[in-house]
Amino acid sequence: MIKKFFKRLFAKPGLSRDTPGTATHSHLQGHDKTGRSYSVHKPKIWNVADHRIDRRLVSHNAIRVCETLQSKGYKAFVVGGAVRDLLLGMRPKDFDVATDASPEQVQRLFRRARIIGRRFQIVHVMFGPETIETSTFRALASSSSEVDEHGRVLRDNEFGRQDEDASRRDFTVNAMYYDPTTETVWDYHRGMEDLRARTLRMIGEPVRRYREDPVRMLRVVRFAAKLDFRIEPATYAPIAELADLLKNVPASRLFDEMLKLLMSGSAMACLVGLRKAGLHGGVFPLLDAILDHKKGESFLTEALARTDQRVKDGKPLSPGFLFACLLWHLVLEDWEVRIKRGEVKFPALFAAMDQVLAEQAERTAIPRRLTGDMREIWAFQPRFEKRAGKAPFKMLEQAKFRAALDFFELRAVVGDADKALALWWREFAETDNTHRQSLLDGLRGNAENRGEGGDPARKKRRRRRKPNGGGSATGPAE
Ligand code: ATP
Ligand code: MG
Repeated sequence: MIKKFFKRLFAKPGLSRDTPGTATHSHLQGHDKTGRSYSVHKPKIWNVADHRIDRRLVSHNAIRVCETLQSKGYKAFVVGGAVRDLLLGMRPKDFDVATDASPEQVQRLFRRARIIGRRFQIVHVMFGPETIETSTFRALASSSSEVDEHGRVLRDNEFGRQDEDASRRDFTVNAMYYDPTTETVWDYHRGMEDLRARTLRMIGEPVRRYREDPVRMLRVVRFAAKLDFRIEPATYAPIAELADLLKNVPASRLFDEMLKLLMSGSAMACLVGLRKAGLHGGVFPLLDAILDHKKGESFLTEALARTDQRVKDGKPLSPGFLFACLLWHLVLEDWEVRIKRGEVKFPALFAAMDQVLAEQAERTAIPRRLTGDMREIWAFQPRFEKRAGKAPFKMLEQAKFRAALDFFELRAVVGDADKALALWWREFAETDNTHRQSLLDGLRGNAENRGEGGDPARKKRRRRRKPNGGGSATGPAE
């Protein structure tokens, strides 16, 4: 019904484009499936006394982009997640601007501006380290949009009016426009009401919107976890049934979304939400195996709690490290099986890494750069038990040493690696070479007892007795 409604509305001639700075459309009322009315053309405009956005939290550069565009007669607003976060009193992590100027018109106004994207062009306006993503109001996906057989929109690259731009956004709380000049918030879909009720509500008909872009199912779970919002029942209900649609989404896009989820500052809550919604099979099929494994769950919980803390502290995160944490227990399990079968320790670890990465690659394309980091971090783990000769100094020089040691410490926290060994390595990493040598010298006396270093001939004999090379402090549990 709503589809027809929109079609009828936007098929009307003469509603092509707003003139800058006006909001003169007639107030049209519609009703969505739940009987909730909403205004389609004319936004509710909130003043600062109502919305209470603290202008100091708004990026100066985003304000500058808006002011520059407005000074040339264009409309320009801060939009999307930034407005939502500002209304919640949070400092947004990035700022997007929406305008009725075309990408070329935007580019001309700024010294460092680049048009990117082929299908739908947006402009990156750059100020030092900050980039303000500036996009031209986009039209709704129409009957002429290219879709696949499941209704997924493949192309929708037409410019449109501001109200159309609002209607094609995902959730009502993500569809508000903030004009920093007048300090007003333009709200087309009762976003403010939902924000106050801490509710995520899909704009339009949820099933159709999920079919257009199944990633919206992942987004709603992420926002619910991150913002601690509830998901309105009609928005949540169709997800279980539509979860399979994720299979049609390009693996690279799923990876991007997965990364956003893990870096949201509420990573574990996101994973739990995904599983509850029945969505994890499509992005992260190995999640069941990890969370159902007690040790795997405690390791991941600890790893993600630290990740979330880093996000909250504004510290950088390494995606390779994160994904290494995510899949570690599967690697460990497979490694254990191989060791039990009599495979040799290091090759068995490499085979386990290949196996797990291949399984995950079926759903999420983890870029090669990251799998390289993950492999290095994992491969380091058994090396932490070798503290003889020059090996520790060599390890120190390797690029992934710090990350691998962090990882090893994390394992020690959950009882998956030797705590004393982790402490020793931390001391070794943080000191100077003289002290390092004395730390190593101090080990000589009792190295034999720990099965580290020592006489190579004795090592050989020991290996012959124990073909698996087992008994390590950090290798697979036996
Ligand atoms: P955050 O950046 O905090 O993850 P966000 O809401 O800003 O959240 P972005 O991915 O940066 O998310 O997108 C910016 C805005 O673009 C959103 O707020 C929403 O209005 C719109 N948007 C993004 N992705 C979609 C989508 N898949 N479908 C519809 N609208 C979308
Ligand atoms: Mg954003």
